[in-house]
Amino acid sequence: MNALILVDLQNDFLPGGALAVPRGDEVIAAANRLQPHFPLIVATLDWHPPDHGSFASNHPGRRVGDRVELDGVPQVLWPDHCVRDSHGARLAPSLHTLSIARAFCKGVDPRVDSYSAFRDNGRRTDTGLGDYLRDRGVTDLFVLGLATEYCVRATALDAAAYGFATWLFEDGCRGVESRPGDVAAALAEMERAGVRRIASKTWLSERDRGADRSTLASGRYLRLMRSGRWEYAERSNATGVVVIVPTTVDDAFVLIEQYREPLGRRCIEFPAGLVGDAPGDEHEELITAVRRELMEETGFAAADVKLLGEAVPSAGLTSERVAVFRATGLCRVAAGGGADGELIQVHLVARGALREWLDRRRAEGIEIAMSLYGGLWLAERETR
Ligand SMILES: [Zn+2]
Repeated sequence: MNALILVDLQNDFLPGGALAVPRGDEVIAAANRLQPHFPLIVATLDWHPPDHGSFASNHPGRRVGDRVELDGVPQVLWPDHCVRDSHGARLAPSLHTLSIARAFCKGVDPRVDSYSAFRDNGRRTDTGLGDYLRDRGVTDLFVLGLATEYCVRATALDAAAYGFATWLFEDGCRGVESRPGDVAAALAEMERAGVRRIASKTWLSERDRGADRSTLASGRYLRLMRSGRWEYAERSNATGVVVIVPTTVDDAFVLIEQYREPLGRRCIEFPAGLVGDAPGDEHEELITAVRRELMEETGFAAADVKLLGEAVPSAGLTSERVAVFRATGLCRVAAGGGADGELIQVHLVARGALREWLDRRRAEGIEIAMSLYGGLWLAERETR
């Protein structure tokens, strides 16, 4: 389920307010336009006591913009803002508020600031937002508000860390940019953490198109779907797909070769598999699936597993997204070969010999998976 989180759309952060974000008022229209399309909407409120430690006025001799430590946590000093129950702390008058299910207050403890709507900057106290969203079945969290590089950034990063698929409406955010480049750096950091950026207009138009989506046929593992004039396949029995780039201590890649029904011939691939496809195991974590598939298919156990990136294997054919992992510190503990008579053949190919080896296999009529080429690129980028 989708939920929309409106971050700090309060008077003090709007033009004319005590801590005004330049053009902060421009995000209200996006917030109002999006609200009718979300089944659950929550707002966050910066809600400080007058003696809050983030106020420069509470640090004699200090000025706004100074950097201090607050109970061991780095803190930028701000002008007095969003003092609880004051006009500045109220939500923007032009914001539609009837559909907001709940507001979460943050920064209520004078000893610590709280940029994230989930927990304070010292990560000591949780606001309960994470449990609130999970209890209501929220899987995808859409974030907008003020300011991009502070409360929006911290909230989006925590949303991803708490396990929500997290989206940022980029036209629904504005930044302070007290140092040039702050906003760009925050956007890049969010992107690295898996937060997806999207324009509200794009999301709304794609949503409209998705409304006429229908199922043409359903099998045990796949559904054939139609959206407008487009037909594509969707998995019905898994929560994700992992591809694993395994390298041995002497720098050889572990590849697998197996007969693939759709092709009618054999194919060379990196080990890969579905996540959460075993009955009763719908909540399987990606990393667990990586270790399980690697063991089943190749017989190798990995000391280290690391996410390299996410990509889509065939955007026109399927809605599938693939998470690509690197596996190192390999130790062979079983024969491999796959489950249920998959008859997987395992190849160890030295990095330096890989290109020629793949070309030769290709010439023999063996197919090469696109995920192999993609995985190699992601792994290569990682080692640079
Ligand atoms: Zn504040």
